[in-house]
Amino acid sequence: MSDTVSQTRLPVGPKAPPAIVEVGFAGIGGNRLLAALPAADFALLAPHLAEASFKHGSVLQEPGQPVTHVYFLESGLVTLLALLPEGHAVDTGSIGREGAIGLTAGLSAQKAVTRAVVHVPVSAAQISVARLAEAASRSKPVRNMIVRYTDGLLEQTLRLAACNAVHDVSQRLCRWLLQAHHRTGDHTLPVTQECLAGMLGVQRTTVTAIGRTLQTEGVIKVRRGRIQILDVGALECRACTCDRYGRSSTT
Ligand SMILES: [Zn+2]
Repeated sequence: MSDTVSQTRLPVGPKAPPAIVEVGFAGIGGNRLLAALPAADFALLAPHLAEASFKHGSVLQEPGQPVTHVYFLESGLVTLLALLPEGHAVDTGSIGREGAIGLTAGLSAQKAVTRAVVHVPVSAAQISVARLAEAASRSKPVRNMIVRYTDGLLEQTLRLAACNAVHDVSQRLCRWLLQAHHRTGDHTLPVTQECLAGMLGVQRTTVTAIGRTLQTEGVIKVRRGRIQILDVGALECRACTCDRYGRSSTT
């Protein structure tokens, strides 16, 4: 399979994304990692980048599957889920335009450890791992980009583990909404209460009760299949600060 702009489908493990629209790569787009590269180093990647779009629910990587492509997000939101033997899929981190999916594979071939699911429709610049590795072998800034981002993602995951152990569900729910808002820039998030409950590892009734309280207080508005943030400041007051710490390195 080619990794040029002419390709029309992506290898993403056992579950193919429901819809992909290739529109051709026209520039850096909104990805902050690519935008921060010196021009000469970005030029090593540019010929091999292709534009891709993914709908809500698309799966970009599955645990245990080889990482074949890296996706530099330009818009939207992807959540990294840890799959537990009991069938739970719990949130271990979120990635927006500040980051990329599968980036570490550019330094060493590896298999995915999480399921990467699109929560807010994504536009991304994609590149094959082989092409990224080739550029990394020739460019210190590209290698540094991979190392720094991988470190930041690890920090985010560790903080989230501590958050899940210590902070209550309401704080974590508010934190997730804020995190999604900061990464996408959107006030309306296409996320269901059932989906939120799964990611937070709690019962749906718990999320429903918290959502009702937040709605009564004028912080959010719960709609069918989406949540609208009405008051970001009020949401920040109710959220734990775990995302705020992580934001310095990953957003
Ligand atoms: Zn927390």
